[in-house]
Amino acid sequence: MEQLLQETLAAFEKEYGRKPQWVVTAPGRVNVIGEHTDYNDGFVFPMAIERGVVIAAAPAVSGDEVPQGKAKIFSIAKKKSALVALGGNIRPYDYVRWFDYVQGVIAGALQEEGNWQVPSFVAVIHSNVPLGGGLSSSAALEVATATLLEAILEKKMDPVRKALLCQKAEHEFAKMPCGIMDQFISVMGKKDHLMLLDCRSCEPTMIPFTAQEYSILITNSKVKHALSGSEYPERRSSCHTAAEKLGVASLREVSKEQLEAGKERLTDQQYRRARHVVGEIERTVAAADAIKKGDYETLGQRMYASHQSLRDDFEVSCRELDILVEIAQKIGLAGGVYGSRMTGGGFGGCTVSLIQTAKMNEIIATLRKEYQQQTQIEPEIFVTRPAQGAEIIDN
Ligand code: ADP
Ligand code: MG
Repeated sequence: MEQLLQETLAAFEKEYGRKPQWVVTAPGRVNVIGEHTDYNDGFVFPMAIERGVVIAAAPAVSGDEVPQGKAKIFSIAKKKSALVALGGNIRPYDYVRWFDYVQGVIAGALQEEGNWQVPSFVAVIHSNVPLGGGLSSSAALEVATATLLEAILEKKMDPVRKALLCQKAEHEFAKMPCGIMDQFISVMGKKDHLMLLDCRSCEPTMIPFTAQEYSILITNSKVKHALSGSEYPERRSSCHTAAEKLGVASLREVSKEQLEAGKERLTDQQYRRARHVVGEIERTVAAADAIKKGDYETLGQRMYASHQSLRDDFEVSCRELDILVEIAQKIGLAGGVYGSRMTGGGFGGCTVSLIQTAKMNEIIATLRKEYQQQTQIEPEIFVTRPAQGAEIIDN
């Protein structure tokens, strides 16, 4: 993150010819286990990663040529500037543009906080979270924006409200009906901790993961299969229909036994979707218990089981993700891999693996070589420990 920070400061000076007044950062995240459980009122188990978004900003001056009531933001990733509105009637656009993540947070903050007056500013946005890679570059950008508003206005938002404000921006301005996980962990992440998040009560419990002998390895498959776009809403509605047919508010309320007893009421597909969710919630709680006991083998086994269920019952994996998990499984305990699974919504993106820190280099080399042999794609691989949530950086 230090390098990212330096690059952002340099880019700011180059773009605007002076130093920034405010610098903020917000991390991306990886979900260790608990996939597609959030919108079923279940548990998720994410951690903030040592990658994120940095925003550097300063009050606009006349030479910047920024219209009144606007902010100019430059994204290094997009190599583009955009103007966002800081007042008036800000509505979501017909389609999603990259700066709508920023605009959505500003719009929501102004609406919620009524009396906030944000002065015109200029900013540079830099990120080392792969865009669209399933590590929530979008939440990192939203949470960094909310943190920038805190810095500019010298006001501190309640962390839960802050996360919900960012989620609302993702719903309304990015048109993605996501759960609360990404924004919660990017706001509230804690170094050397995972977050067991109860998506029914919105209650986060921080679980220490201090054993330095173990690390989290993230492998970006570099594929994102272009699907129809209806897969996510379809999965959501299957789950909700299954819950309704079983006579409960959400699949969180269903035990394995109840699901089996009610199987006849569901279509085969609804049954398999529900079986994933019910099993995944159980595995997520078990994974948190395993970490508390220092039982990394059990944690790893739950990760493999999660992958299998996402692949076969929930049907959101793809060939490349399956290959990555198979290679990890082949390296196995003897080679220092405890568990591995796809992470994020699916159909591409990343896998997350629990590994022995000491064997990191061999594991990375094997994964890289074998994945490339089987797919002709060079993966992006990095190791991370649980990182801190969003912060204002003194500069
Ligand atoms: P993910 O959150 O998994 O990375 P999303 O599709 O939810 O994928 O969000 C990615 C989108 O967020 C990008 O396509 C872009 O519109 C926006 N975004 C994220 N980071 C940046 C950035 N640094 N600069 C500009 N836009 C960004
Ligand atoms: Mg996202």
